Amino acid sequence: MLGLVVCGAGGRMGGAVVRLTQQTKGVRLVGAVDRQGSPRVGRDAGEVVGAGRLGVRVSDRIEPLLKGSTAIIDFTHPKASLGYLKAAAKTATPIVIGTTGFNARELAEIKRLSRRTRTLLSANMSVGVNLLLSVLGRVAQTLGEDYDVEIIEAHHRYKRDAPSGTALALGRAVAEALGRDLDRVGVCGRKGVVGERDKKEIGLLSVRAGDIVGEHTVTFGGLGERIEFIHRAHSRDTFARGAIRAAQWLVKQK
Ligand code: NAD
Repeated sequence: MLGLVVCGAGGRMGGAVVRLTQQTKGVRLVGAVDRQGSPRVGRDAGEVVGAGRLGVRVSDRIEPLLKGSTAIIDFTHPKASLGYLKAAAKTATPIVIGTTGFNARELAEIKRLSRRTRTLLSANMSVGVNLLLSVLGRVAQTLGEDYDVEIIEAHHRYKRDAPSGTALALGRAVAEALGRDLDRVGVCGRKGVVGERDKKEIGLLSVRAGDIVGEHTVTFGGLGERIEFIHRAHSRDTFARGAIRAAQWLVKQK
């Protein structure tokens, strides 16, 4: 039985994970965490997310919960995630991190801490996006330098970071395959007389509107043809299900 502690349990994603623990065989919710001062702290995690009473209270401290747990799933905020990863590292508890928006320093810290516990970090937990990530490099190499790469992402109005972590991961997959550095060739939006497109540019454009769960389009524009890969997530449950699947896989790793 996989005993899960969910961080960000009152949030959109954490809430979806909490609900899905009730529908997934072999998985049990053993702890729920949210930020200090949240009105959800002290309440029943199931009632908070509309899943009915589960007998697990939302806590603002992760440490006391880790003894009886098998793994952590975290969908919160970069600073919070680092704190949870530190707690996971101290107790060698496997952790799946779905939070996005980490800066380079924070990513380096995650890498360092991940030597002390099994850690899976993915900006997108959907199986479809991960498949896309695994094939894009080959597509880019086959098409070669003469195809312009543009990535458009669309998300709900509440999303805090842009471009999305997934758009950056897709951009990195293409950039690496073409021997480019996304930090140097990535262009986030355009305005004014920007001149002709540089051949090596990788455009990253962000749309924020309504309740869009998450859409990513990778365009390879050549002369006379355009190839597009589109991924649309229809429900947050896609990511939540993927995160639980990732935790089930992670606990089996050495
Ligand atoms: P949300 O705002 O609905 O929920 C965030 C949760 O984190 C809330 O419960 C909030 O109280 C908690 N939180 C925020 N700051 C905190 C802090 N300092 N300490 C402890 N808890 C804190 O957001 P969301 O839509 O659920 O997204 C959460 C994260 O997951 C974002 O980074 C988002 O981009 C990412 N996300 C990832 C995927 C994926 O597949 N990897 C999918 C969707 C969203």
